[in-house]
Order: sequence, then structure tokens, then C-alpha cells
Amino acid sequence: MIDFNRPAYVGRELEYIKNAVHRGMLCGDGEYTKRCSAWMEERFHAGHVMLTTSCTHALEMAAYLCEIEPGDEVIMPSYTFVSTADAFVLRQAKIVFVDIRPDTMNMDEKLIEQAITDRTKVIVPVHYAGVACEMDTIMKIARKYGLKVVEDAAQGVDAFYKGKALGTIGDFGCYSFHETKNYTMGEGGALLYNDDRYQEKAEILREKGTDRSKFFRGQVDKYRWMDYGSSYLPSELNAAYLFAQLEEREKIYNKRMEIYEYYHRNLAHLAAEGKIEQPFVPEECIHNAHMYYIKVHDMEVRTRLIRYLREKGICSVFHYVPLHSAPAGVKYGRFAGEDVYTTKESERLVRLPMFYNLDMEDVKYVTDTIDQFDGF
Ligand SMILES: *Cc1c(COP(=O)(O)O)cnc(C)c1O
Repeated sequence: MIDFNRPAYVGRELEYIKNAVHRGMLCGDGEYTKRCSAWMEERFHAGHVMLTTSCTHALEMAAYLCEIEPGDEVIMPSYTFVSTADAFVLRQAKIVFVDIRPDTMNMDEKLIEQAITDRTKVIVPVHYAGVACEMDTIMKIARKYGLKVVEDAAQGVDAFYKGKALGTIGDFGCYSFHETKNYTMGEGGALLYNDDRYQEKAEILREKGTDRSKFFRGQVDKYRWMDYGSSYLPSELNAAYLFAQLEEREKIYNKRMEIYEYYHRNLAHLAAEGKIEQPFVPEECIHNAHMYYIKVHDMEVRTRLIRYLREKGICSVFHYVPLHSAPAGVKYGRFAGEDVYTTKESERLVRLPMFYNLDMEDVKYVTDTIDQFDGF
């Protein structure tokens, strides 16, 4: 069976975990955590990168730092993972969904303004498949209405928009290092922000409401309970795994790109024949080969294709069930405008196997097998 995903393993992960153990410090904010943050701050030109226990938790931190009050409205696509909404629902926000663009599957920037009310506080662009949303337009709207922007860049680590790293463009950016993402630590994420004014509050929030970060830097002589907080810092064991991956980012990136391009090239004739649609990447975006998907005619064809691939030993998957049609989406959100593309496009999308340790022979088998499918 060809798996859909397996967590990347590049080589030095276990060595680094062993180092962390020998160093005798397994809790958060040790050597590897610092190295991961510094590495990302440098490569992505980010003001601050804080490693977190997940992207979900980074989003929760961002929602808190945006000072969401009960009843505030947050604009996001319905075509996203549940965490994008959950983080804001936790702060009792109302979720306002807008439709996606069928070409990139990202929130349609032209539909954001009609969704703004006097309760709107935040816009949350989700960079689907590591392909950037139209950030210039989104930032312009946000500035015009005095809104904050939280980028859900869970899939956008090491992807760029007009030369800027995703996650560094809005007020906050959130990364995921879950095992299904390009670079991993099992479970983990990061919160990014550029404005130094957030630093103290973010540190306190992440360290159970204490000023322990200041204490460790020798800026205060004891640490105390300062404000509301939780525990959002990952263990050094996880950070050690991640650091080994970041160090080898080029290897991981190149391999994923090789797979992406192979799929793209070898399925192009099916697109030319009108049987499938392939992903589209706008000129100003450099994507990260986070996923490869195709879109077929409709849900029936997709169901047949997934079943056929499974019979041939290939695991392919679909997502997401649009949030606005799910029970919690009905309860916590509303759809602003018309759902022209969200449901329709989500029902015909299939993701193909994509991971660092995937054999190119297997990739060839996948495209050959799809080629022989007669149910389009
Ligand atoms: C994976 C993902 C998340 C959640 O990431 P975790 O690190 O598992 O919390 C959030 N949003 C999007 C768009 C994702 O793809």
C-alpha cells in the first residue's frame, strides 16, 4: 500500500533527541527550541518566532493577543481545518465565512469587504496548499477598516508571496509542524509576529501567565503570576526533531518539489482532455509543494476514483467538509454572501500521496494508475 503521508525522517533527528536527553533539559525553551526559533527568524525575516505545541495553539495565542471579545466577528474561509475557527470560538467570537476562489481554493479577497460589519475584528487568510492568498489586497482592506490579520500558514511554512515568507505578512502568523506538514516535530507549531509590543504579553501567555521568560533572561529576580496564561511551549525532544528537519530543509523541499512536478507533468494530458483540473499557482507566489491535488468532475467521480486507487494499493484522501455546513459551524458561524465554490470545489478535490520518503517509483505508479482510470 502506498501511504498518503508519512512523517519526514531525514537523518539526524534521533542524534539530536539524544543530545537533548544528555543535556538534561527536556522542558521547553532549551537549546533546540532557541535554535529552531532563530533559524526561522533568520530564514523568514520574522521579528519573533515562538515555538508552540501546535498550530491550533498558535492560533489560540493569536486570537487572545488580538483581544477578541465575545461577539466580535472574525472573517475566514469555510474551506479550512477546524482549528482556524476553534481558536476564535474559544474567545466567543462569531465566525463569518466567505467563499473561496476556485483557482487557488483560497478565500476570495474580493468578497471580504461585503462581510465586514462594525463587529469585525480580524481577517484570517488560510494559505491553502502553501499557495499564498492575495495578501496585498487583504492587508489593504485590513488597514482601511482597522482590522488585524492572522495568517493561518499551517501549510505555508517556507512558502512566499512577493518575496515575503507566509506567516510574516499579517499581524500574526501561525505555522504547523504536525506530522502531516512539510517539516515536523510530531505535534507542534509556531507563532510569528513582527511588532515588539506583543512580546511581553505573548511570553506571559505562553508561560502559564508568568514572567518566567524574563526571569530566565535575568531581567527580574523572581517570576510571578502576571496575567492569564496557558502552557504553549513544546518539549525539547520535539524541538530537537524539528531542528534536524529545518537544517535539511533544502533536501525536504527539493524532494517534495520533485514529486509535485512529476505529478504536474504526468497528469497534464488529463487536464488537457478536460478530465481533471490541476492546481494553479499565481505568479507572485512561491509555493512549498505542501500537497498535490487534482479536481475531478464531481463527488461521484471522486468517490469512484478514491475507491479505484485504494483497490490498486494507493491511499488518496479528500478534505475539508466546509465548516459552515458542519454542526459547530452552524452554531458559531454564518456564511456572508453566497456559497458558489466552497461546497462544489471541496467535493471534487482529491489529494495524492506526498511525503519526503516517498519513492519516485511509487509516484510513477500513482500517475500510471490514474491514467488507466476510465471513470472520469
Ligand atoms: C494542519 C492545519 C492546522 C492545525 O495544525 P496543528 O499543528 O495540527 O494544530 C490548522 N490550519 C490548517 C489550515 C492546517 O492545515
